[in-house]
Amino acid sequence: MIRENLKSITSGLHEGVTLVAVSKTKPVEAIMEAYEAGQRVFGENKVQEMTTKYEELPKDIKWHLLGHLQTNKVKYIVPFVDLIHSGDSTKLLSEINRQAGRQQRVVNCLIQIHIAVEETKFGMSYEEAEAFFINGHFRQYEHVNIKGLMGMASNVEDEEQIRNEFRMLKSFYDKVSLNWHKLDVLSMGMSHDYRIAVEEGSTMIRVGSAIFGLR
Ligand SMILES: *Cc1c(COP(=O)(O)O)cnc(C)c1O
Repeated sequence: MIRENLKSITSGLHEGVTLVAVSKTKPVEAIMEAYEAGQRVFGENKVQEMTTKYEELPKDIKWHLLGHLQTNKVKYIVPFVDLIHSGDSTKLLSEINRQAGRQQRVVNCLIQIHIAVEETKFGMSYEEAEAFFINGHFRQYEHVNIKGLMGMASNVEDEEQIRNEFRMLKSFYDKVSLNWHKLDVLSMGMSHDYRIAVEEGSTMIRVGSAIFGLR
């Protein structure tokens, strides 16, 4: 089923949209099935799990970290991570910069914006993110490359609400890109809402259960 699921998702995507196959909690066998179908970008939300899978699986896989990252765990993923979606504080970015410097790498990061109504989700508010881009301290981070933004829409049935949240994030993305820092990744959309996200300008979707089945 994994192969068929991937095919049906990617066949509907236009070229500028990258699919991150979210493999958290799934065994390496499931990842290999997707890999053999041609998928190379995988997303995980836990440092330990991602590190173990990285060690066991083919080295041309691009590993994306999606979940909240604690500063004391940054060093474990810096050697191999391709993109961190969950950059949500100056403190975290500064630790990523420090560790990446020690390991002579430049780590790609997105700024996670809190766009949902639920309070439990991580991320900067629009106000915080705007201040972050305006004050420009991130320009001192020689080992962090801020490539874009990530957001998770509210977990609701109302499609118009989801669409509005994505639309607002896209418009903020355009504003940042135009005024303060050129961005080229807008990570938004999951299994239940990626079609809406793509219509609203997503360039990277993070899809788990629609590929691998329910967790
Ligand atoms: C788990 C997760 C996803 C994928 O969720 P699905 O509903 O299974 O597609 C996407 N983004 C983040 C940040 C996640 O934690």
